[in-house]
Amino acid sequence: MYDPLVDSYPGPQRPHARSYWQAHTDTDLPSSATALPERADCIVIGAGYTGLNAALELAERYQQQVVVVEANSIGWGCSTRNAGFAMPGTGRRGYADWQKRLGTETAFAIRTEYQRAFARLEQHLQHCPQQLQVQRGGYLKIAHQPNAVAGLRANYENLKQFEPDTQWLDAEAISKRVHSPQAHAAIHYPQSFGLNPLLLTASLARQATNAGVTLIEDAPVQHWEKVGDQHRLHTSKGQISARKVIIATNGYTPNHLHPSIHGRSLPVLSSVIVTRPLTTAERLAIGINSTELVMDTRTLKYYYRLLPDGRLLFGGRGAIRGKDAQHPRYAKHLLEAVRSSFPALERLTHEPVDYYWSGWVSVALDDYPRIYSPEQGVYTSMGYCGAGVTFTQIAGQRLAELAMGEELPPLPFYQSPLPKFPLPHFRRFGQWAFYQLARWRSM
Ligand SMILES: Cc1cc2nc3c(=O)[nH]c(=O)nc-3n(C[C@H](O)[C@H](O)[C@H](O)COP(=O)(O)OP(=O)(O)OC[C@H]3O[C@@H](n4cnc5c(N)ncnc54)[C@H](O)[C@@H]3O)c2cc1C
Repeated sequence: MYDPLVDSYPGPQRPHARSYWQAHTDTDLPSSATALPERADCIVIGAGYTGLNAALELAERYQQQVVVVEANSIGWGCSTRNAGFAMPGTGRRGYADWQKRLGTETAFAIRTEYQRAFARLEQHLQHCPQQLQVQRGGYLKIAHQPNAVAGLRANYENLKQFEPDTQWLDAEAISKRVHSPQAHAAIHYPQSFGLNPLLLTASLARQATNAGVTLIEDAPVQHWEKVGDQHRLHTSKGQISARKVIIATNGYTPNHLHPSIHGRSLPVLSSVIVTRPLTTAERLAIGINSTELVMDTRTLKYYYRLLPDGRLLFGGRGAIRGKDAQHPRYAKHLLEAVRSSFPALERLTHEPVDYYWSGWVSVALDDYPRIYSPEQGVYTSMGYCGAGVTFTQIAGQRLAELAMGEELPPLPFYQSPLPKFPLPHFRRFGQWAFYQLARWRSM
């Protein structure tokens, strides 16, 4: 598997991950333009949610000539590989943390920004004939062991002022909803929903091309040159120049794409298994209904949902290096987590899984993304830490505004560059040590 810290660039013509979404989704994606234009007002690198939202906004609202260059096919990165949890927020920090650091007013302003992201997502849903196959049942954040309950409860007590519709489920209430020895209490977030990530990519890509954006697939940027005030990008399909370039490559960003962002993100593999459809008896035994999203309180979280056809999607952190990503032990590890979460699914966990795939998420050193300009004419957004389905919708819009010289709201995402990892060469070693510690803690 492509590894951003090892390979020079992804693509061209790498096939999509063999995911459940690719196998079970019937949709139209716009086709790639055949020739790479020599110039554009703005070039966007990467055709995932971030890049497509930015391109759409630049073309539709600012009438810019935009060319999106994608290393492989549209949505080849995380945007067609994720679990489809549309939830409020991004990164790993909650409102309590923001409130403590920056005050209540800023924490509320962050909430408003998250709501804008949801509103944009709902618009994209309206542009999809299948309505993104949404499953609206909210999201359960579950205390996976008894000593996680007090912390979760404290979190809820603070959360209520920001999200008054959330609900606390004590041990008895959660045991009626999720039949698992690893569910001791939960917070229910009613606004969240499950979606089909490939349909979201397709909806965005269609809107972007309808607004005049040129999409070029199989054109990885291989070299970047600055000529006067122009950025000249060398791709496998030729060269293209513009005064403005948006880097929307997120967890797939090759190490040396541009010096200004080198060492500011850690690409981390997130992996997912999808089982065969559960039998009625199995579904009744585990309790969760077919529209709820579930995530636990581990440092290295597990998350799961039932898909519209009754399969169980179960995800968590994967291998550390790209070359290990497909090793069967990582799928086995997720199956073991299914068994400990749901002993009633013992039989299922001895069967081969129908789908197993992974993708690179971008982790920021201080746990939250930044949308900023690292150099004149260069703009980027990355570091969502695996929570980007909802937030990328607004991040793309903000990127476009930034590129057009507008002032962004005074929120922490827009005020500073991504911090550089100390000793970037040792990022993987630090990640390995962190995984050992987190696993030991949640045992
Ligand atoms: C298994 C998994 C499950 C997840 N589940 C969830 C979830 O349930 N909810 C949630 O909120 N988030 C989830 N995420 C994270 C979410 O998918 C991402 O945050 C989001 O898709 C990021 O979108 P993006 O457009 O920024 O990046 P991506 O979709 O990753 O797009 C980056 C693109 O850049 C391209 N690229 C890279 N280098 C070059 C180059 N040199 N030239 C040209 N193109 C290049 C890549 O080919 C890629 O297509 C999950 C991620 C994974 C991997």
